[in-house]
Amino acid sequence: MRNSILFFFTILSISAFGQEDSANFAAPLDIPLYLSGNFAEIRRNHFHTGIDIKTQGVEGKRVLAAEKGKVSRINVSPYGYGLALYIEHPNGYTTVYGHLLEYNDEIKQVVRQKQYEEESFRVDFSPDEDIVVEKGEFIALSGNTGGSGGPHLHFEIRRTSDEHPLNPLKFGFDIKDDIPPRIRGVRFHPLSDTTLINGEHESKSFVVHGSSGKYRLKSDGQIAVYGAFGISIHALDFLNGYPNKCGLYEVHLRVNEETICRQRFDELDFSTSRNINAYKAYDVYRTNNWHYHKSFIEPGNELEIYLPETKDRGIMHFAEAGTHNVNYVVKDAYENISTLNFSFETLAEPNGALPEAKPYDAYFKYDQENSFTYSEELAVIVPEGALYQDLKLNFGREMPKSDLLSARYSLHHEMVPLDDYMEVSITADDVPQNIRKHVLAAQYSTAGYASYITGSWEGDQFTFKSKSFGKFALAADSVAPELTPLTRTSGSLNDNTVLRFRVSDDRSGIGSYNAYLNGKWVLTAYEPKAKTISVIFEGTNPLPSGNELRVEVEDAVGNKTDRVYAF
Ligand SMILES: [Zn+2]
Repeated sequence: MRNSILFFFTILSISAFGQEDSANFAAPLDIPLYLSGNFAEIRRNHFHTGIDIKTQGVEGKRVLAAEKGKVSRINVSPYGYGLALYIEHPNGYTTVYGHLLEYNDEIKQVVRQKQYEEESFRVDFSPDEDIVVEKGEFIALSGNTGGSGGPHLHFEIRRTSDEHPLNPLKFGFDIKDDIPPRIRGVRFHPLSDTTLINGEHESKSFVVHGSSGKYRLKSDGQIAVYGAFGISIHALDFLNGYPNKCGLYEVHLRVNEETICRQRFDELDFSTSRNINAYKAYDVYRTNNWHYHKSFIEPGNELEIYLPETKDRGIMHFAEAGTHNVNYVVKDAYENISTLNFSFETLAEPNGALPEAKPYDAYFKYDQENSFTYSEELAVIVPEGALYQDLKLNFGREMPKSDLLSARYSLHHEMVPLDDYMEVSITADDVPQNIRKHVLAAQYSTAGYASYITGSWEGDQFTFKSKSFGKFALAADSVAPELTPLTRTSGSLNDNTVLRFRVSDDRSGIGSYNAYLNGKWVLTAYEPKAKTISVIFEGTNPLPSGNELRVEVEDAVGNKTDRVYAF
């Protein structure tokens, strides 16, 4: 009995605190470790799943294997992690290195072979033959590839068995942080149709003052609530050395000394990472870039970050009038703590006019598939799991602008997030057959900017998918991409030659890019941030003279530009 209790406690402590017990990772860079981003930091549609290590403002720092192991995955993409490397270790963890400039020679050779085999710059594969690395071995050069906004190394630690990313700051790296999180605001959210916050049916933020871990409301006693509500807190962490905004490790809300909600970021799950749009106060993140952490859980939010002591999903409803004391505690991964204490009033009777019921066009339930149709013109299907809460959908239709091929339909608005793709079909029988293959859906932001989505025709119906509500219409892209040389287009070629071109497309975007030397495919790297492609002649053995280089760029709806150059 005694043994089994001990055993039980050992398991518990490993899963909760002791990740570092079974692993002893070396630093992935041999320069001092300063972070520009940390684990669980709030990003646009996901939580950050690793740490971003600064590389002194430059590319080309030596990246080292954090532990011995073998290369389990290599992913080369113009987007996301750019050039990425995954190493699986015997200790049960996998480390990931992203935004790399280049791999070491052994790995690079395997990558080139794969790229030529698939005639594609983009590859994502597990090496056929083991590439074994030792702890501290040089594996790559740091870079700024993919969706990176400046030179840094993205470093992740995942549990190999389920690929869950874990908090790297719990593994004892030499990173200094003795600065407590800074609290900037607190927000009250109405969670019923009749809730009033200071007499109005809308979310309200309150300014917070303080420093060195102690915070208070700018003016206390200013909050009165009627009905069901939830609270969120705007807080950021900072580490020593640089003023980069980082994320929190733990948020704990207590009201009248009782836990209402408590969440902690030891690990995440890629399958629910987009639930961040239910976790943060989505609207004020989009409009003001405020990082509000909600201390209540919407019904469709499936994040597994909440501790069991969380009560009623953080939803509060006091039927009687009274004063309530809030104690918010936020923590970073190094246990630096900040607290916010204040009080609010609850009311037994409304202190303002109850909100009038607003008209809506459809009622969508969060836990089922929902659909909406408008006449014969438009049909929308929102799959189960795409909404975090029930929605009173608003629909609208405007007359087309001159260059559009359909009416412009508004499907609710972009301040309500979607976790999954909705499918939209627009019937447009008057679109001439000859331009149908160039048709796209244009999606308009509130500010009026259009982004374009490809789709497919079935009869007179064009169907496409979008992961956000907004305004939609059909448009066409009949213009081929532009291709402009940035380097010479004549002279001689050798194995060290790299030729660069600027590429751009007005609507559908760059779909494919290929180059052929004397009829044979040549590796062409695409860098969307710089809008360039680079033709890399390494390993192609160009002729001393009489070479023909063909460069082809196609947009996402098949408009093609090709050019031939003689070298
Ligand atoms: Zn990162």
